[in-house]
Amino acid sequence: MSGAVETLVPLHAHEILMYHCGPTVYDDAHVGNLRAATVGDLLRRTLEYTDYSVKQVMNITDIDDKIITRSREEHIPTDVLTKKYEGIYLADLRHLNIKVPEYLLRATEHIGGMVALVEKLIREDYAYTTTDGVYFDISKSKNYGALARLDITAETVSRIEGEDKKNERDFVLWKFWTPGDGDMAFDASFGRGRPGWHVECSAMAMSELGETLDIHTGGVDLIFPHHTNEIAQSEAATGKPFANLWLHNEFVMIDGQKMSKSLNNHTTLRTVLEHDISPLAFRYWVLGTHYRSKANFTWEGLNGAQTALRKLNEHVGEEVGTVDKSYQARFVFFVVNDLDIPQALALAWALAKDAAISPADKTATLLDFDRVFGLALAPRKTETIPAEIEALANTRETARTNKDWAESDRLRDEIKSLGYDVSDTPSGSKILKL
Ligand code: AMP
Ligand code: ZN
Repeated sequence: MSGAVETLVPLHAHEILMYHCGPTVYDDAHVGNLRAATVGDLLRRTLEYTDYSVKQVMNITDIDDKIITRSREEHIPTDVLTKKYEGIYLADLRHLNIKVPEYLLRATEHIGGMVALVEKLIREDYAYTTTDGVYFDISKSKNYGALARLDITAETVSRIEGEDKKNERDFVLWKFWTPGDGDMAFDASFGRGRPGWHVECSAMAMSELGETLDIHTGGVDLIFPHHTNEIAQSEAATGKPFANLWLHNEFVMIDGQKMSKSLNNHTTLRTVLEHDISPLAFRYWVLGTHYRSKANFTWEGLNGAQTALRKLNEHVGEEVGTVDKSYQARFVFFVVNDLDIPQALALAWALAKDAAISPADKTATLLDFDRVFGLALAPRKTETIPAEIEALANTRETARTNKDWAESDRLRDEIKSLGYDVSDTPSGSKILKL
């Protein structure tokens, strides 16, 4: 909020209350979304490394216009669609070694809190009803737009011609049901319909974490309008600060543009894997850029990260000595300084190359740093695939070439029963140990 790095002063001794704006589950997440989730995880791991316990909430937005549109296009109920993409998202998080927040809150399961919040805002005259929904009146809000540094004094506090909103930036708290909304509707004292996106997050954050949280995270695109509106409605309802600290990650960029579904320039984790880049190599790539800087997505960059991660792992041995206190002190200095993970990673490399530290102590110290990095560093064991498995995979490859899918599936099951799996990539099939 101040635009500067602030000291974390916890609200509740050693427990930090964090809220992360999670995905809207109507499609696969792209690697930009996954950078946001990774940054949230790095913050959480840093707090845990420095002996805080963390209560982390992430919402799953399963009520949204895009969900309604997609479910209509695909002729499936909205809840079937959202469950499917929630599952894919959580699998992505696990692949990236992201600690899945213990509190995953689905909008559809917290309608009661949203309705109560809107009722309170109506009762206290912060909200009003129009023909299509309930809106928040920003002229009643103290300091509206402070987080986004908006100057609204000149523009808003007059009625707009031809619309029944009072101010241009008034935002919807609740949308009344229309036939196009299909099965997406909930009853409320002020009319049947569904919550607006902003109110979902305010209600869910407060239901699990209370009226004020320590840290709210998300991507920079959420500063306005989403977080701006979360602040306005939450603080109007409670009269208390909504979040003490805000942490926003910058974008993943591609060819000079923000990666996004609407620009259709996005890459999913699945595509990354198809390019033979491991999820942890992607994570390493994320670690290399400070969260407040844009990260340019290139395949060269990801390949470089994969090589670097492999080489870093080569410094992790079987024998674990003791953590080097001097390196550890420098590490802490970097990570608590506005999450300077790139510097911490550079330090890990300096340690890896430091001839004065024994291999066993190096291993211990790198494994200690990895509690924050989350790169699953481990002694490297060269995994040889047994000839029997190779042979089965080759037979399956032939079956696939002959389009004998039944035989190919049967062989895959057989391979699985022996503890391996084959995945089909553009460069041929790959064998993985399960
Ligand atoms: P969404 O599913 O669009 O609500 O986004 C989920 C999260 O990803 C939010 O925290 C967004 O701010 C973040 N996000 C979206 N696009 C990008 C991007 N290109 N780079 C980094 N983060 C992003
Ligand atoms: Zn949110």
